[in-house]
Amino acid sequence: MSATLDRLIATRIRQDVQSTHAYAIQDSRGMVKLDAMENPHRLPPALQKELGERLAAVALNRYPGDRIDELRAALAKHAQLPEGFGLMLGNGSDELITMLAMACDVPGATILAPLPGFVMYAMSAQQQGLKFVGVDLTPEFELDEQAMLDAIALHQPAIVYLAYPNNPTANLWNDATIEKIVAAAPGLVVIDEAYQPFASRSYLDRVTKHEHVLLMRTLSKFGLAGVRIGYMMGPAQLIAQVDKVRPPYNVSVLNCEAALFALEHEDVFAAQAAQIKSERERVQAALREMGLQAWRSDANMILVRVPDAARSFEGMKARKVLVKNVSKMHPLLAGCLRLTIGTPEENTQMLSALQSTL
Ligand code: PMP
Repeated sequence: MSATLDRLIATRIRQDVQSTHAYAIQDSRGMVKLDAMENPHRLPPALQKELGERLAAVALNRYPGDRIDELRAALAKHAQLPEGFGLMLGNGSDELITMLAMACDVPGATILAPLPGFVMYAMSAQQQGLKFVGVDLTPEFELDEQAMLDAIALHQPAIVYLAYPNNPTANLWNDATIEKIVAAAPGLVVIDEAYQPFASRSYLDRVTKHEHVLLMRTLSKFGLAGVRIGYMMGPAQLIAQVDKVRPPYNVSVLNCEAALFALEHEDVFAAQAAQIKSERERVQAALREMGLQAWRSDANMILVRVPDAARSFEGMKARKVLVKNVSKMHPLLAGCLRLTIGTPEENTQMLSALQSTL
């Protein structure tokens, strides 16, 4: 690197940006990819062809327009959002998390979330110059109710995130505890239901009861991770405020059309989710059969504790199975791997690769 470029970076790029890392994505070439909670199923070939024709007809010369409103309406219907509530779109829910941090960025503002949790909550705070407070879960990965309430009272957070189910622990929280947190929160509470297609409960019925609660979802786990559509619902006036920091035209016309097409074929995705859930139970039973501690899951992933996480991760990788080694993410996750549920064949391959490393 030239001395000029060195100096430019040293003086013009924020210190905290220089010392941080970009969001890490593992190299998955040639691997059975079970590291990122993707739906392993593609669209059936007949639908791929039909989608191709739909995309070919999209006017690429125009900025996104009316079709975006149609997508918002289709998502509100898909989620069964009650009348009068607002819904905004993000380029994945990652972008919504970023926008929330931007909208709430007043001096001294804090974002609070349980840990271990989804990394973007802390990353968005750091990127925006907000403070992040993480509150440890209990060793059984439940919310530590008193610690959460104490931290809320102490830090008065602008945003509390509750991923429901949580990533990487895959569990839902105790509902009475959620209500106490919602009652105590002085700012926004964002319930992140990224894994809703696989969960046994949703917060949707309750979101309408609180003016400071927003519900975030995504089409990523539904089966469109590549399409990048996240959406956030809540009181219309509140949504309208956050929507002001949304970059113009943040959802591309192609993504919009693909999402509308997928929502017209909801039944196909519902059948895929049903298969993933049944595979989840099979994998869970097989892990326990191997004598491993595998936590109950309400998502399309299972957290499992193995005798040596690095050995199992590398051993599985050598057998062309890529999972996520979360053992260094947080002390509570010592020895843990996060396994995404794939197709039946992929899961069988994953289980035998894991078994061979034990
Ligand atoms: N929320 C949670 C809890 C997640 O685990 C993830 C991604 N794994 C996201 C949000 C982001 O999803 P996306 O940006 O693909 O919508």
